[in-house]
Amino acid sequence: MPEAKETVLEIDLRALEHNYRYLRSKLAARTKFLAVVKAFAYGSDAEKVAQKLESLGVDYFAVAYVKEGVALRNAGITKPILVLHPQTINFNTLITHRLEPSLYSPKVLEDFLASAKRQGQTDYPVHLKFNTGLNRLGFGENDVDYITGQLRDVDEVKISSVFSHLAASEDLNEGTFTQRQIDVFQKITLEINKKLDDKPFRHLLNTSGIINYTGAQYDMVRSGIGLYGYGNEAKIDAELKPVATLKTIISQIHKIEPGETVGYNRSFASDGHRISATLPLGHADGIGRQYGGGKTYVLVHGKKAPIIGNVCMDMIMIDVTGISCKEGDEVVVFGPELSAMEFAQTANTISYELLTGISQRISRVYKD
Ligand SMILES: *Cc1c(COP(=O)(O)O)cnc(C)c1O
Repeated sequence: MPEAKETVLEIDLRALEHNYRYLRSKLAARTKFLAVVKAFAYGSDAEKVAQKLESLGVDYFAVAYVKEGVALRNAGITKPILVLHPQTINFNTLITHRLEPSLYSPKVLEDFLASAKRQGQTDYPVHLKFNTGLNRLGFGENDVDYITGQLRDVDEVKISSVFSHLAASEDLNEGTFTQRQIDVFQKITLEINKKLDDKPFRHLLNTSGIINYTGAQYDMVRSGIGLYGYGNEAKIDAELKPVATLKTIISQIHKIEPGETVGYNRSFASDGHRISATLPLGHADGIGRQYGGGKTYVLVHGKKAPIIGNVCMDMIMIDVTGISCKEGDEVVVFGPELSAMEFAQTANTISYELLTGISQRISRVYKD
């Protein structure tokens, strides 16, 4: 990649390929792989990422909302797309674009059945989501009879898969709880298979599940963060390659005299002769105010420069005292040299939030 001339998010599609192959290598050959590309593929670019993964042979995609699935169809994606959290108002659009809904409650199931009937569908693929402990979305264990009752002898839809989601797959201290989730899921799938003619496939694991509970891979796994290069633990991060690098440049350099302050509300007060640099990147770009105040740093020519004062909407200031640099020089915010997980941890958050928060006003550039 050439030096950045403005703030850009570099997307390394070769790193994506590496991560996909690494995660695949942990799984049985017959296990299907679903790539989670919700939220602009975790802030990178859902269309480019999905096109690349489709070319590599990924089996399934998932998005959160219908609108995201429509964008993938418009980008030429032909593989099945699971919509994890469809809103009933969008069911007609969902059917028009051949997107596959997650059905997670009686109301959603009945609304979808009505839509499928109105649109004259037969065997429309749907996915049943069960709550096994996350308490977020999903039918309960006790809903199996209701569901099978609703769907028996119904031609409009066909249950493609049954799935659930782990609450703490990255946390081995929660191993007992996770094993209970796996057991409950196992019980539900056996019951469904007994009571329905459709023989749906099963999926449970997210990225950390693939790493820590490989034995529960069932027929498919769903990976998001791992594809983008982060595995929620250092050992796995060492095997993965970050896909996104956020780079910017120095807009201006200031000499700060003792007692002078930097930024809104004068929150950084200089205790000596310091040099600050202003960057064209702010909280409107996804680098929130929690990263200000000197606890988070960026890299200027490989050297750590803390973000000082309050983060502004379109700018941040960093302390470059002792670092030889000038206007126009490149600055790395996160990427392979400075992990998004570490950057996020300085503000008590996680790589997921940092990555998905990078605003759409920042240009994406691609490396393949
Ligand atoms: C977001 C999401 C995933 C992906 O999880 P990662 O930890 O990013 O791999 C998988 N399944 C469901 C239901 C999700 O909502």
